[in-house]
Amino acid sequence: MNSIKIHNLGYPRIGKNRELKKAVEAYWKAESTEAELQEVASQLRQAQWQAQSQLDYMPVNDFSLYDQMLDMSFLLGVVPERIRDSSSTELEKYFATARGNSCSCASEMTKWFNTNYHYIVPEISDATEFKISSTKIFDEFRQASTSKARPVIIGPVTYLALSATEKDVDYLKYLSQILPVYVEILSRLADSGAEWVQIDEPIFSLDLSVEQRQALIETYEKLSVAGPKVLLVNYFGELGENLELFFSLPVHGFHIDAVEAPAEVGKAVDFLPQGAILSLGVLDGKNIWRSDYRQILDLVKPVVDVLGTVWLAPSCSLLHVPHSLEGESKLDSEIKSWLAFADEKLQELCDIKDLLTNKLGCDHILFDNQQVIKSKQIHEKVVVERVRREQQKLQRQDFERQASFEERQKSQQLKLQLPLLPTTTIGSFPQTKEIRQNRAAFKKGKKTYEQYEAFLKQEVCSVIEQQIEIGLDILVHGEPERNDMVEYFGEQLEGFTFTANGWVQSYGSRCVKPPIIFGDVWRPEPMTVKWSQLAQEIAGDKPMKGMLTGPVTMLKWSFVRNDISLSDVAQQIGLALRQEILDLESAGIEIIQVDEPAIREGLPLKNDQKDNYLDWAVDAFKLSTSGVNDSTQIHTHMCYSDFNEIIEAVAALDADVISVETSRSQQALLNVFKEFRYPNEIGPGVYDIHSPRIPSVEEIKASIEAALNYVDAERLWVNPDCGLKTRAWPETKAALLNMIEATQKVREELKVLV
Ligand code: GLN
Ligand code: ZN
Repeated sequence: MNSIKIHNLGYPRIGKNRELKKAVEAYWKAESTEAELQEVASQLRQAQWQAQSQLDYMPVNDFSLYDQMLDMSFLLGVVPERIRDSSSTELEKYFATARGNSCSCASEMTKWFNTNYHYIVPEISDATEFKISSTKIFDEFRQASTSKARPVIIGPVTYLALSATEKDVDYLKYLSQILPVYVEILSRLADSGAEWVQIDEPIFSLDLSVEQRQALIETYEKLSVAGPKVLLVNYFGELGENLELFFSLPVHGFHIDAVEAPAEVGKAVDFLPQGAILSLGVLDGKNIWRSDYRQILDLVKPVVDVLGTVWLAPSCSLLHVPHSLEGESKLDSEIKSWLAFADEKLQELCDIKDLLTNKLGCDHILFDNQQVIKSKQIHEKVVVERVRREQQKLQRQDFERQASFEERQKSQQLKLQLPLLPTTTIGSFPQTKEIRQNRAAFKKGKKTYEQYEAFLKQEVCSVIEQQIEIGLDILVHGEPERNDMVEYFGEQLEGFTFTANGWVQSYGSRCVKPPIIFGDVWRPEPMTVKWSQLAQEIAGDKPMKGMLTGPVTMLKWSFVRNDISLSDVAQQIGLALRQEILDLESAGIEIIQVDEPAIREGLPLKNDQKDNYLDWAVDAFKLSTSGVNDSTQIHTHMCYSDFNEIIEAVAALDADVISVETSRSQQALLNVFKEFRYPNEIGPGVYDIHSPRIPSVEEIKASIEAALNYVDAERLWVNPDCGLKTRAWPETKAALLNMIEATQKVREELKVLV
């Protein structure tokens, strides 16, 4: 008799209406007690399990007040020394590690594999005492009190790999200390009645080192006999060369990502040890499209025929998709029928189980599903012939500027007449309360568009006056009209749509509502020209920099359609931006910046896929920027300082000027550019905008001088390290005035030298 079981690896925890965000923030502001916060958390977990009650197994301990890696650290006793010994409560220590407090700074935060979720990086050192230090997992297992409950933990090798705060330390050396704690956790779970434990080891999606392979073998020899049956879980892509190792480990069940790597399903069947369970992640846990049941049935049926038993689940935790489509009343109903958030995905699992077990009366399920899939394929906004023709017409020369950088630099200099060490900003100026209130009033219909626009114009005017007063060389309009750097453009492009409540956790209590790219992207009309033109008129002779978000960033921060390749979507956005840039140029804007803060985070997990990604990412950017005349200066901006892996691609973008964040270390950053002999102009951020602290003239001057050790004066720009939208005016103005004064001093000194 065939046996199909359905289960889930993790469920969104923020609550349908972001209840967790509200409860946690109220606690932080001391507007509620710990008991009140825990009560909300407990109710959210109940609701979470209720929503999964149709499943055969459901995860427990996937809930978190902040982050699952941080929970794991607290479970293992990995608490930063500076926080561990304070007299605060456990919960205070937990949040202090995540966010810092008046006495201690927070732990580092970084992206969880290739998602937009951020985890708190564990701080392990020789002083760490590994021991069970939290009862959360046991408490939540008890609270669930059902035989379906399956506790989830992050596996030791993934945990240690993600702990790497110091580059030169081999964190695997702590394995022998951490394993006994894992063994104890598992044995306690078994004592509490857990049949299975889910151990996530997404490290299998990366290229494993010899040491990591050895560590995985050692780990699972110990953990598989420690207590409950072990379901070993990989997600975020194919196992590739790690497949044989994965299936050789002595565990009881194996979960693989059958969405990103359907081709590995056959091999999985071949390598599955006798008697072990195979779990297939058949629904995309990271994206929001309804599944094609036909495709899934075709993939799974042969497996059932051979194995008799199979488990089905989403590919990874549903943490990465919104809760539910319920309440999305404004979405176009046809587009809505193409979507599946977490709750709808669980329903899909039930449907697939019914279909596979030939449940009576379920024939219509497949029919209805195929209708939906078809309606998307033939929808006029999904395939826009005109866009496809434009793409086909593209030739190599459309991706290249006409002249070399040296020639462009000359004609730009002739036209712009910029001083040595030109000063500018990254684009946004403070998004004041007034701006947010006006936008909200307009959105709620309390202000007409004319009123809102008049307010914005006034804002632009005053931002420009301020910049002239400060003495900046290249001005910006300040971006007061933008709520968000992707949404603002998405709203004006065809092929994008937006949800009312599609929130996804980004980190801690911060949630984002990614746009959805469902169809071919094109630009019905100019998007920013009016603002830049207005700003240029106000600025008079001073050059005004136009400001756009680049194609890769728009892609990376959205839910993207899965029926055409990412590179094709990027190319369509690149085309739309190309037209925008040409329109800006015709409107007299001589400098245009295309922000690409997300290029680096889009890097695939496996090394052999990186070049292909960088090739199309660079192409999409160049397609957008290469249509202009030599004398039009193209800038780009990137929000990070680690360029080691991508410096070649960054140079290939061939932007005339790049501004970059320098938070890590200006020296290390510029060294990469120097060693690579990066040829174009660079604006390393000369001060950190992430704190309200006002840097002194001396500090900024030192920073410019340090940069001059790596970049010749003729190619160096002076700017803050990111946009100023999160700052307040007083500190912004003071810091920029200091920046200008510092620049003038360095210019004087350089003149003396000549
Ligand atoms: N131009 C944007 C701004 O200034 C850039 C934002 C970013 O780098 N993330 O806000
Ligand atoms: Zn930035």
